[in-house]
Amino acid sequence: MIVVMKPNATPEQIQHVINLVREYGLKDHPIVGTDRTVIACIGDKRAVDKGAIENAPMVEKIVPILAPYKMASREVRQERTEIAIGPAGATLGGQKIGVIAGPCAVESREQLLQTARAVAEAGAIALRGGAWKPRTSPYDFQGLQAKGLEILAEARAETHLAIVTEVLRSETVQQVAAVADVLQIGARNMQHYPLLEAVGKVDKPVILKRGPSSTMEEFLLAAEYIINAGNPNVILCERGIRTFEDYVRNTLPLAIVPALRERTHLPVVVDPSHGTGHAHMVPPMCLAAVAAGADGLLVEVHRDPEHAYTDAAQQINHHAFCAMMKRARKVAEAIGRDM
Ligand code: PEP
Ligand code: MN
Repeated sequence: MIVVMKPNATPEQIQHVINLVREYGLKDHPIVGTDRTVIACIGDKRAVDKGAIENAPMVEKIVPILAPYKMASREVRQERTEIAIGPAGATLGGQKIGVIAGPCAVESREQLLQTARAVAEAGAIALRGGAWKPRTSPYDFQGLQAKGLEILAEARAETHLAIVTEVLRSETVQQVAAVADVLQIGARNMQHYPLLEAVGKVDKPVILKRGPSSTMEEFLLAAEYIINAGNPNVILCERGIRTFEDYVRNTLPLAIVPALRERTHLPVVVDPSHGTGHAHMVPPMCLAAVAAGADGLLVEVHRDPEHAYTDAAQQINHHAFCAMMKRARKVAEAIGRDM
């Protein structure tokens, strides 16, 4: 349920309600809006005397949260959540569409630095690059791991781009969070609940990728795990789902963008690289994602895609990325957003 405070409630009156809620054994999540504060209360409501809470000073009303995902739901927060990422003041979820770009994997210092410079120059706000790679085959390149993190940190120091990199297992969350500005949870791990709880305890935003065979509701419930564990800064990433169609690596369901924006206040990012699997499809689908209302893009960019160690077919080169950015800005302008 949500306790809606009246617009001029004081911090003491809000704290009084929080104490009451805690007395009933519920977990409180105060959400401070521009107009008023609401307190989302999560837990078993059966023993709660709603009348007692409703009678507290400056409480306007109590409303149930109908969605199964509570904190991620727009019922709890109408305003969109804008999440700050990285060292240069960039955000995702606001008026400005943000682009996260970089190679699938960190392969070498020179490779990453060259692409970091190119995407920064073209206007990206963040650099992506996997240090640990989730590979279908155990014999494939698994990433440079700790060395990859060092290289990412060097790229940030030079370019001031925020660093986005995947964390594969709970045991390495602290190690990755020490370098990354944003932790990526890969599609394969969307329902790895202990990992979701582990990143929920860290003070860094999380990009949660949609599992290739998950419904939208399962996707939002996965986000709920992270928020419920204590981290409200979750960015949702649609990266394509598995269907019968095989001319693409995954089917990119862009209709989820307006659907998510209606149901959740969290920022929504689209990854057309994994969403199509083919480099030539990536720029047009970036434009389509912007047109559909995405708050950001996640794009794989490589200096020499033909020789990439991972995901070679879908990475676009520096030139194609730059050209895409120019066109995407025009689409953003056409729909009243900045980029
Ligand atoms: C990636 O971003 O390189 C990646 C492994 O993505 P996904 O988890 O969406 O497959
Ligand atoms: Mn990849």
